[in-house]
Amino acid sequence: MTLKVLSVASEAVPLVKTGGLADVAGALPAALAPHGVEMTTLLPGYPAVLAALGGGRRAKVLHAWDSLLGTPARLLAGSLPDGHPLLVLDAPALYSREGGPYADAAGIDWADNWQRFAALGKAAAEIAGGVIVKRGKPQGFDVLHAHDWQAAMAPAYLRYVPLGAVECRSVITIHNMAFQGWFAPEAFDRIELPQGAWALDGVEYHGGVGMLKAGLSSADAITTVSPTYAREIRSAAFGMGLEGLIVERGTAVHGILNGIDTDVWNPATDTALAARYSHRNLDRRRANKRALEEEFGLDQGDGPILIVVTRLTWQKGMDVLPEVLDHLVGLGGRLALLGSGDAALERALIDGAARHPGKVGIRIGYDEALSHRMQAGGDAILIPSRFEPCGLTQLYGLAYGCLPVVARTGGLADTVIDANPAALAAGCATGIQFDGVTYDALAAAITRTVQLHRQPDVWERLVKNAMKCDFSWTASGRAYADLYAGLLA
Ligand code: ADP
Repeated sequence: MTLKVLSVASEAVPLVKTGGLADVAGALPAALAPHGVEMTTLLPGYPAVLAALGGGRRAKVLHAWDSLLGTPARLLAGSLPDGHPLLVLDAPALYSREGGPYADAAGIDWADNWQRFAALGKAAAEIAGGVIVKRGKPQGFDVLHAHDWQAAMAPAYLRYVPLGAVECRSVITIHNMAFQGWFAPEAFDRIELPQGAWALDGVEYHGGVGMLKAGLSSADAITTVSPTYAREIRSAAFGMGLEGLIVERGTAVHGILNGIDTDVWNPATDTALAARYSHRNLDRRRANKRALEEEFGLDQGDGPILIVVTRLTWQKGMDVLPEVLDHLVGLGGRLALLGSGDAALERALIDGAARHPGKVGIRIGYDEALSHRMQAGGDAILIPSRFEPCGLTQLYGLAYGCLPVVARTGGLADTVIDANPAALAAGCATGIQFDGVTYDALAAAITRTVQLHRQPDVWERLVKNAMKCDFSWTASGRAYADLYAGLLA
């Protein structure tokens, strides 16, 4: 029997992406199809999403709301570029605007985000509960799977205002506990939940509406994107205020690692690269390193090129990076960085590059194809995150033989095997881990990286181990399918 799951997210590749959530939401339907799960994705009708439906004019209208939290809306049907079913919530007053999915071009959050994402949750709950009727029969879903705070109201609507035509279980996935979707209490009067939802175990959070909190209190199951992060968020340091609730939900909380899309991230077939390669012909990788030197204006050399591809934020440890540049360059290393974010961090990195011409190259911006070329041309990828729910860039690094040098936290701890003497002797190491995001820890990790790189046989072994790791969706797809089946049993 096919299990029908409605996945609700605020972004999904290739239509709209600001971070790892989009990679995961975009990959899940294909990951679950082999396990008897038909996943339909519901996205807000941003201009880029409507464009995928040919502007929405020719799309099939499955349902219409005269007033969805006060604004007219339509539900359009189509398919994602990979052929999996797509539903789009077309509510022009909420989503049809230039700028980002959550903020305007200047980075200021949209003032009506409470309404934009409460509406997404309400629509999702009604769709899962059977609001679409075909030949007199409500077409619901077995499971509603919500991602992050932007979709987190869906399980709350399912719990407090169930449509009831179809019985449906709910799952919420936390991709990052740092983003919680908190709104002033006035929002509660306008999101059409019964008064009973304003409760400690409901949507109320610190005197306002806590959307992620509402989802975590209401969903039948909670997942996060690595086993280590699932443990870490039980503590104050990682739970960001919601640790008590996570502990209380007990065995309803699961950690399932993200996979990577091996059609998109495969150095043997990647058309973005100067030269394609696999672990069987690593010599071909050299051309990518030369191309990277050229692209970033780096001097040619035998020392390692460390790369960084990231949002420039405190979470990612990017405040410590400028401090270690002298150390890195002093050891004969070079750095190529692609990122955007915090303006002060951007400036500090640009200043650092100016101090080290030919050794440090910085690209401010977002460039998907360049990120592929960096993974193929770099020797190691630095990921000094203070917390990392799963992390994808270390998985891309493993697949491309760009060894991850990572802080031992969250998914980074779960996916990289540190090249300590025991792991080197056993022949299973795939990268370098360090504890704590400080100058000393990062500098020591860079020293170890450079020392390992000076031993070509050891380095090649590490690269081959890394490239042979399987972080495709196979295992994780099955884990989600088992979770859904368990909820319905
Ligand atoms: P997060 O979701 O916290 O930003 P992840 O490692 O889970 O971190 O996912 C980040 C995703 O965004 C990866 O696919 C990474 O390659 C991509 N990415 C981040 N910054 C950039 C950038 N400046 N240019 C291109 N891709 C980027």
